[in-house]
Amino acid sequence: MDPLNQKINHLPAAPGVYFFKDPKGTILYVGKAGNLRHRVHSYFQRAGEKDAKTLALLDRVADIETIVTNTEKEALILEDHLVKEHHPRYNVKLRDDKRYPCLKLSMEEAFPTLKIVRRIEKDRSLYFGPYPSATSLRETLKLIRRLFPIRTCLDTKFSSRLRPCINYEMGRCAGPCCERIDSARYREIIRQVKMFLEGRNKDLLEDLRRRMEKESEALHFEAAARIRDQIKHIEYVIEKQKVVSRDFTDQDVIGFHRRNHTVVIHPLFIRGGKLLGGRGFTFSGAALPDEEVLSSFIRQYYHEGKFIPDQILIPKPIPEPHVTEEWLTELRGKKVRLLVPRKGERKHLLQLAHENAERYHIAKTDLERDQAKLLDALKEQLRLGKIPRRIEAFDISNLQGGYAVGSMVSFEGGQPDKDRYRHFKIRTVEGADDYGMMYEVLLRRYRRALEEDDLPDLVLLDGGKGQLNVAQEVFKELGIQGVDLISLAKARAGKESSGPEKSGEKIFRPQIKEPFQLMRNSPVLHLLDRIRDEAHRFAITYHKKVRKRGTLRSVLEEIPGIGISRQRDLLNYFGSVEKIQEAALESLMSVPKMDLKSSRQVYEFFHPDRGSS
Ligand code: SF4
Repeated sequence: MDPLNQKINHLPAAPGVYFFKDPKGTILYVGKAGNLRHRVHSYFQRAGEKDAKTLALLDRVADIETIVTNTEKEALILEDHLVKEHHPRYNVKLRDDKRYPCLKLSMEEAFPTLKIVRRIEKDRSLYFGPYPSATSLRETLKLIRRLFPIRTCLDTKFSSRLRPCINYEMGRCAGPCCERIDSARYREIIRQVKMFLEGRNKDLLEDLRRRMEKESEALHFEAAARIRDQIKHIEYVIEKQKVVSRDFTDQDVIGFHRRNHTVVIHPLFIRGGKLLGGRGFTFSGAALPDEEVLSSFIRQYYHEGKFIPDQILIPKPIPEPHVTEEWLTELRGKKVRLLVPRKGERKHLLQLAHENAERYHIAKTDLERDQAKLLDALKEQLRLGKIPRRIEAFDISNLQGGYAVGSMVSFEGGQPDKDRYRHFKIRTVEGADDYGMMYEVLLRRYRRALEEDDLPDLVLLDGGKGQLNVAQEVFKELGIQGVDLISLAKARAGKESSGPEKSGEKIFRPQIKEPFQLMRNSPVLHLLDRIRDEAHRFAITYHKKVRKRGTLRSVLEEIPGIGISRQRDLLNYFGSVEKIQEAALESLMSVPKMDLKSSRQVYEFFHPDRGSS
């Protein structure tokens, strides 16, 4: 028996974490198990039944190490920690830092409100979602506000109102800020919102009909008519909603599709029986068996702050499901069940999720193929040194030299990679010197890129020959070679193009005197335009933010006795000078570092005629 098999036979039959290592000691894979000996055995037994990629992994394993833990849950937590620390090649890595928007019904407040949030807190609020797109969520929020007269104002505004706002006049809010409705009646409206969001529409409609009858018996005909209209609206909305499940619990249905070594996992979000949408994740080079990939996905996808539903429907059993269930229940603070449907409606939902996973894979593969062709064409047409898989583009934005900022956007495979976007506040250049600012931004970016071995394939600058010269100078100074440089200049008005089919855009390349001009309808040009416009949008947004902060600060600077730190706290708390101006003395005092004296100073500055006493 070889030493590896001997070692496997003597592994502890206890919970813990195991490491597969190659001959150099590099960690290839980290896994957790309820019974280490049993789990590791299962890999090496019946090896003939494993697929080629799993076999390739097992072939490379020269050593196995384990850490025993007290419980299976401890093993799960330790595994997560070790995967993050070692980034083993064969572990599934989920890149999903994005938090999806949810609706929060703030039940802890006397007059709850409905807000969009991206983080689920462990509090008494109720959360609904996640919504796959912010647009669909905003639509839902708009609809709820049309159907139910709940408040929409911020807490700071709510506590300082002397009269209800326009929403009250329009019948869109019951006016709790000024006691136009008491807490019990307002809570009744919130109960209806909750029913609506939970998909309990039948109960909701019955509830409303009962109230309508009561109002009409009490001869409150106006109120009864209002409820009648509300019922009509709700019935209309319900008719349009696609109900996919009669099980009105919240469910995530995990679709799974594997083609060779690429796995696509596509959860569908079902809330109160309605399908809100879904999202696909691709894992290439997934060497492990499906149940391991699935288990690893679940542990990475659900984490603190993510919405966790009552039920998660999965296509096949995962190892130690009770540990994952327990962990999810603890995270959520409420029972969570992992179910493998065998028949009926749930099985049907799972089938729908699998179809979505497959479609997602096909669409993604097609898109990648088209993008690859486009990048090839870009290389050929602009005579670049290599295929520009990663492109970084820069723009500068300033107001006559003031509030100057630079932006960098990054495109990978022709698609924006927002995690890599960067902002730069110009530090060393005074006045309107665009070249100087570009020099500073490029120098800062590429000095760092060199240190981190993180150079792109192509750098795109917004501008003409001048900008290109600046980039060449920076690259020369830093000794960077092998990165292509281009600049893209818009034609000036009246000098649109040199031919009817040619675009007005000019593309400059180092060492080539005459600029390139591509055809108006060239897909390559559209890609470059899109990247340049994105850099421009990103720079302008940041510039406006910096400018707004600067302007706001300058108003606050005029208030005697309010230093930079308090100015920052006031702005962070209220979000704008208008809101600070509207705030009551008590609200000002709730801001960190603001005492009675400083709050009075702010209040009296904005209300010189009223005084604060
Ligand atoms: S009426 Fe009052 S509570 Fe309602 S949204 Fe306006 S300020 Fe807020």
